[in-house]
Amino acid sequence: MPTLTLADGRSTELPEGEPVGSVLPGQAIAARVDGELVDLSYVPPADAKAEPVLPNEADGLHVLRHSAAHVLAQAVCDLWPGTRYAIGPPVQDGFYYDLELPAQVSESDLERIEARMREIVEADQPFVREELSRADAFERFADQPYKREIVESLEDGEVAGGEVVTVYRNDGWSDLCLGPHVPSTGRLKAFKLMKLAGAYWRGDETRPMLTRIYGTAWAAPKDLRAYLQRLEEAEKRDHRKLGRELDLFSNPDELGPGLWVWHPKGGIFRKQLEDYVRDLHLERGYDLVVTPHIARSVLWETSGHLAKFAENMYPPMQDEQGDYYVKPMNCPFHVLIYRSQVRSYRDLPMRLSELGTIYRHERLGALHGLLRIRGMTQDDSHIICTPDQLVDEILAVFDLTLEILGTFGFGEPIIKLSTLPGQTIVTPEMAEKATEALMNALERSGLPYQLAEGEGAFYGPKVDFDFRDAIGRLWQLTTVQCDFGLPERFEMEYVGQDNERHRPVMVHRAILGSIERFSAVLIEHYGGAFPLWLSPEQVRLVPVADRHVEHARGLAARLREAGLRPEVDESAETVGKKVRAAQLAKAPYVLVIGDKEIGSGVLTVRDREGTETKDVPFDAFVAALVDEAATRRLTQTRFE
Ligand SMILES: [Zn+2]
Ligand SMILES: [Zn+2]
Repeated sequence: MPTLTLADGRSTELPEGEPVGSVLPGQAIAARVDGELVDLSYVPPADAKAEPVLPNEADGLHVLRHSAAHVLAQAVCDLWPGTRYAIGPPVQDGFYYDLELPAQVSESDLERIEARMREIVEADQPFVREELSRADAFERFADQPYKREIVESLEDGEVAGGEVVTVYRNDGWSDLCLGPHVPSTGRLKAFKLMKLAGAYWRGDETRPMLTRIYGTAWAAPKDLRAYLQRLEEAEKRDHRKLGRELDLFSNPDELGPGLWVWHPKGGIFRKQLEDYVRDLHLERGYDLVVTPHIARSVLWETSGHLAKFAENMYPPMQDEQGDYYVKPMNCPFHVLIYRSQVRSYRDLPMRLSELGTIYRHERLGALHGLLRIRGMTQDDSHIICTPDQLVDEILAVFDLTLEILGTFGFGEPIIKLSTLPGQTIVTPEMAEKATEALMNALERSGLPYQLAEGEGAFYGPKVDFDFRDAIGRLWQLTTVQCDFGLPERFEMEYVGQDNERHRPVMVHRAILGSIERFSAVLIEHYGGAFPLWLSPEQVRLVPVADRHVEHARGLAARLREAGLRPEVDESAETVGKKVRAAQLAKAPYVLVIGDKEIGSGVLTVRDREGTETKDVPFDAFVAALVDEAATRRLTQTRFE
């Protein structure tokens, strides 16, 4: 009789042949036995540690979503006999299934499929795990060519290796699968089908195009409702939609995918953002540098980019000196600046900083608004220092990160330390030193962090900072990488106190990531309602009638003199329409200018919330706004 040790430390005897589920709480939908995810029906062969997997934890959601994918394919097969089903994994927040249907389907069919899924859930069909030989699996999936192809390529890890194939069956419907699954379909309490898309089998353009149906599944109906609300909120905040409405940027077809132009309002927004970041870097002892957009192939050979990063680079241009590449990174240029003269220990640390525009040939399918683009400007800096200075320099970067992101209202980062991947240009010894420095800095900072094995960049381990936006979504923004490799490749040196030549270390870091992506994040974070200092337009003046335009222009001129950004709405619309237009443009403050304002010399100020304050003296209004912008306050001034 195996002894099971439970999560609370209690242990219990499990009668021979009894499944692990029999000793776990009723809410469990799967189990973790000695750390492995298994079905509740799993019978432990020996003593083990057993924990319940609950529906609302990460593993539980994974199991729920994966089970919902089965039910989706089963429902489609019921409705369209002859359907061939390919694969159906869980994904973030949901699941999908790729299917080849015998008929054309559209979004309007999703409701029908969902209704059939509900019937299957009502019926509470058990998920039965079966182990088949490969021959029997071929037989079982006789009319399912995609499943047969998967059985043929067992080593893919989609099904258990070797001769035994695991299959999950509910009712008469089976799928190849490693599991685990919920014990029965009745455990799927909250799901919804979301959309249809096309997807090539195996992602291969030469193979058949399948129908991909996406769904979402949650532990409880209230979680599903909250998720759908979050989606709706995210849609309202979509930076592509707001970018168009606020006239910030566009992506004309003639430029090509992933390349964007910034319009005048976007230009002002970027100036605010860039000036703030650049000035703060100067205050913190960084130097500004400027580098070109292309360089000869020899630079990229030395840096290792051509060997390790070529697929992300645009093809070369030729001239009589040979091949030139558009830069995918700024690092090698900064190395050349360092190497432009003999450096001594007194020059270190050197912190070279640039808003450097780079180009990466991202896959077409991966492009997404400003979040994933092909031409972008990084707030890129390289700190070149002695090994002794390394930890202090990394700590200062963490500090600067928290200050900059805090200015935008981002706090409590989720920090991840990623160690080196398999493909790398540095020796294991260098990798270890680099990881150690990052870890020491993290320990000294007292910031909590997680470890991610093998997720670092090809030239070094890295620390990533993720921040949560106003609607709870996580964005990876800051990256700090520690690099012993490039200094070696470029034979960077400094003369030490001992008069000998030494190798410096290099820290790569971008705090915002790229200006474009960060702008997209900010737009969605603020829902387009920027704090005053970032608002392209800060004050909208609304003259009541034509005879008030002159006075409004005069006030606008005085606001501009004070360094503010006003606009006068001189259109022939009604006051009501003009005020609504100002609200749509997310103008932080609106001033309606009529006879009364001209006569009294005081203003009625309307803020973004729609709060109106009467009798505000003009000078007090200007002084308050200048202060609000200069201190980069996140909340609007109240004029009482
Ligand atoms: Zn499965
Ligand atoms: Zn770099």
